[in-house]
Amino acid sequence: MVVILKNNVKQEEIQGLIAHLTGLGVEVHPIIGNTQSILGLVGDTSKLDPSMIQSHRIVEKVMYVQEPFKKANKVFHPENSVISVKDHLIGGKALSVMAGPCSVESYEQVLEIAKSIKASGAGVLRGGAFKPRTSPYSFQGMGSEGLEILKQVRKETGLPIVTELMSLEWLDKFVEDVDIIQIGARNMSNFDLLKEVGKSKTPILLKRGMSSTIEEFLMSAEYIMSEGNENVILCERGIRTFETYTRNTLDLSIVPAIKKLSHLPIIVDPSHAAGMWWMVEPLAKAAIAAGADGLMIEVHNDPANAKCDGQQSIKPAKFDALMTKLKKIAEVEEREI
Ligand code: PEP
Ligand code: MN
Repeated sequence: MVVILKNNVKQEEIQGLIAHLTGLGVEVHPIIGNTQSILGLVGDTSKLDPSMIQSHRIVEKVMYVQEPFKKANKVFHPENSVISVKDHLIGGKALSVMAGPCSVESYEQVLEIAKSIKASGAGVLRGGAFKPRTSPYSFQGMGSEGLEILKQVRKETGLPIVTELMSLEWLDKFVEDVDIIQIGARNMSNFDLLKEVGKSKTPILLKRGMSSTIEEFLMSAEYIMSEGNENVILCERGIRTFETYTRNTLDLSIVPAIKKLSHLPIIVDPSHAAGMWWMVEPLAKAAIAAGADGLMIEVHNDPANAKCDGQQSIKPAKFDALMTKLKKIAEVEEREI
């Protein structure tokens, strides 16, 4: 971190600030000029609050030299992380495809979809039991009954399950029952929730908040990791822009950015990004070509009658055809499905 001081600051004021910063446990390397001085801070600056330093009246500006995320940072962990969910790996050579309905609607529905996506090569079954809906009058999910259905289908098919946790009240149950806990876009900045899931060892699928920068996204991962849970899988699901044609704008540039900045795996959800079923295929292909570690895709056996997100759900046959095409793109990227 670099602290740039205002012009013509008195020596004793500089010494006072140096003493204060040293007291916070960092080494201070001052460069004292005739009119302007700069303090270089080295050591563990992760716990320093830049706005607190900025509040000293002699400080002009505080700048980061390194990114504020440490545990998620590639610099401190050059090897890519591979997250294990039973024998399914996320972040390795094989791509991880998570698929299933937006929400759990019945045992028969989930079982039928699960069997077909498994036959097509998906590795994880998705399905919301607790749904974050914009309207309180929309279907809110089947709740604990939905969770039981997912568990039964897991038993039947062997597919691990990923489902969204919205409230801390369900955390213990999720840790016991779920293979991957999803933190949805709306909760990416729910720091209390992030800290609590960080105390578990269950892999976390963290979706990007709809108005979050890449750095904010990584800082949310940092919240989870700083509590001890390093099993974080990032998921790009589109961000809000001025464009209204699509539900969100898929920011594929995040994939190479995350590969440069972090060792965490990143998957892409083209369904929530586009909001239209016919865009899922081209965006899924582009995501794999861009270097994503996998995909999350909404698949429904009867989209027209889906209780949630039918307009962006593809049918099992379309998913199967897509997987065949993705295998070829994966090969070009030296990956496999
Ligand atoms: C979901 O995956 O079911 C979901 C609600 O996604 P997001 O949090 O990205 O909107
Ligand atoms: Mn959905």
